[in-house]
This record gives sequence, structure tokens and C-alpha cells, in this order.
Amino acid sequence: MSDKLHLLGISKAELEDLAAAAGEPRYRTTQVFKALHQRRLRSFDEITDLPKRLRATMAEKAVISSLSVESRYVSTDGTRRYLMKTADGYSVETVYIPTENRDTICFSSQSGCPLKCDFCLTAKLGLLRNLTPGEIVEQIIIVLNDVYGVGAETPHGTNLVGMGAGEPFLNFDNLIAALRIMADEDGLFIVPNRVTVSTAGIVPRIYDLAQLDDRPHLAISLAAPTDELRQRLMPINKKWDIDALMKAAKEFERSLKRGERFTFEYVMLGGVNDTDRHAVELANLLGRYRLKKVKVNLIPHNGAEQLDYTASTPEQVLRFKSILESRDVSAYVRSPRGRDIYAACGQLAAKSEGSRLDSARSAVLSA
Ligand code: SAH
Repeated sequence: MSDKLHLLGISKAELEDLAAAAGEPRYRTTQVFKALHQRRLRSFDEITDLPKRLRATMAEKAVISSLSVESRYVSTDGTRRYLMKTADGYSVETVYIPTENRDTICFSSQSGCPLKCDFCLTAKLGLLRNLTPGEIVEQIIIVLNDVYGVGAETPHGTNLVGMGAGEPFLNFDNLIAALRIMADEDGLFIVPNRVTVSTAGIVPRIYDLAQLDDRPHLAISLAAPTDELRQRLMPINKKWDIDALMKAAKEFERSLKRGERFTFEYVMLGGVNDTDRHAVELANLLGRYRLKKVKVNLIPHNGAEQLDYTASTPEQVLRFKSILESRDVSAYVRSPRGRDIYAACGQLAAKSEGSRLDSARSAVLSA
């Protein structure tokens, strides 16, 4: 990491303090904040409405871009995967997922991941390091500029999911700081209601999230209805077992506003966690903890050579779904996106594979 301050990672209030300390007039704060987050300019030189002297001073002390785009992969379904590098050489992956009436950006909270979930390719990288708030915000700015053009308005707003590489709740403070910056109406203006963050089950942080007013939606990766199976698939279960996780989920449920729900994600692994019996056990589990404001997202497994699992058959996914529904549990099947370019859930492993359509363009992006 550079010793210089990453300006994308500081809030408008903090920027105001910096401007005051430097003897700059108050209006500079909004001017600079808007230039970075609303106009999404990527270098001090482009902020031509700032005096040259100020641009030079800022460039001495701070940076506004630190990630470089190494490659960009475009799927046949329109999904784009960006493989980026931090200034100190760590991989960061971000995925753009277009749908008919909304666009979603899936960002990473860590380079790599420490959690070792057996079905996930990112786990094979191990943890490299936490991303800073600036690096989290910058991922989204890079993608928006690439998809829509620098500073151009997005046609129907942007949804964010914290489901890329890493465990967001092991980088909780940086994550929340980044989300607050992105919610600012003078900036990206992506409000918490448009954001979902997924955790493998870092229980204390679920309680923390329940306390926050300006919090994103929560998704919890469950993957199994019993401790015996879950700890085989997700070793984090040895630290916080299903009982601890469900109690935290219950507390979170109590903090929801009317009409709000939270999600359990359930990766569907053929013959491992997808039988009728597992569906019944899952419904019973949610029933035991009286979890009502909840939906289950069934995610067919995305395979990779290094992973020992296969996806459940589409028929079994539907059976599983209907067993849950017959027991009053709402369930949805998530269709995989960007599998051909290693952009789907659990496939982010800094792979330089897939059809790279435009390396010339990515060279421009990283310039
Ligand atoms: N560490 C967080 C954020 C990653 S989200 C978490 O675990 O929640 C990634 C989602 O994809 C999780 O729900 C995870 O269970 C799921 N997943 C991981 N590997 C997968 C794979 N190979 N196929 C399908 N889903 C996978």
C-alpha cells in the first residue's frame, strides 16, 4: 500500500477537516468530493476547476487511483469480470452483472480469503490482505466508468453485492466505511437499501450489523442444515456453530423493519447437501428458530478443476425448492452468471482465463 492517503476512502466530513487544516475554503470539500465520486475523475490533473497549485499539493500527499486493471473478461451473457491489482501487487476481482432492469456490481472485500470453504475456488488463494475503504470504493468507480463512461449517469441505478473475494465481516470497519462513502448523495449515492453483504457466518459482526441504522441487507452463507455437514464444507462452523449462527440471525431478524427480509444462501452440491432429507432438515432448522422474515437463495454449484463437487441437477434443485416452499419457506433459484469467464459465485481466483475480448482496452483502462 502506498503511504499516501487514498482520497476515495475518506468521507466528506473527513475531507472537510483536511481542507480546513490546509486553510482551504469550505466549498472545496464538496467540489473535490463530487469530482471524485460523482464525476468519477481518475486523476488530479482532470479536476481542472481546481487551482493548479492545489492539485499539485494534493498529488504530493494523496492518491485517487491505486488499482490497475490487468484484464477484463466479457461473458457471453454480458457479465464482465475485472481482474485488478493493488499498488502493492495483490489481486482484486470485481464483477459487473447486467440484468434487464437493474445492474449489479459484485465487489471484493479482501484479496483472497482465509476461510477455506471446501466448495469455493477463492479459498485456494488463502488470504493475501484486507482491502482498504479506498480500494473498495475504487472498484465500483472503475466498473461504472468502464460500463457507462467516465462520470456518466447510470440508467437505472446500481445495486451492490459484497459477494466477491474475501469475507466482508473480517474487514468490517473498512467495509462499513466504504459503504457510507458510497451512500453520500454528493457521490455515488448508492444507498444501503441497494446493497447486500454476504457473510460465511462471522457471528459477532452479525450482532454489530443489527445495531446499525444505515446498514446494508444481509445474506448468510449456510450450505448445510447440520453441524456435521456444515463443518466439513465450511470450517468456520467449528468456531461458530449453527446454533450460534441461528441465534445471531434471530437477533438480526428482530432488528428488521416492516417488510424487510434477510437471506440464507445455500450452495447446491450434487449428492452432498441437496437431497430431499436435507431440504426437510433445512426447513425444520428455520422453524426451530422461528425464522420467518427470511428467504433461501439456492445457488447451483459452479465447478472448477480444483474443486471436488458437481452441481445438483436442475430437477433436484427444483425439488429442493418445492420441499422448502411446501413448508412455508420462500426459496429462489439463482441462475449462474459469467461461468465461462470464471466470474460466477465461488469462481474468483484471480484466473487469467476466459475469453479476454479486449486486452488493448484494458491497457487503456489501467493507464
Ligand atoms: N465470504 C462471504 C462472501 C462470498 S459470497 C460468504 O461466504 O458469504 C459467495 C457466495 O457464493 C457464498 O454464498 C458462497 O457460499 C457461494 N459459493 C462459494 N463457492 C461457490 C461455488 N463454487 N459455486 C456456487 N456458489 C459458491
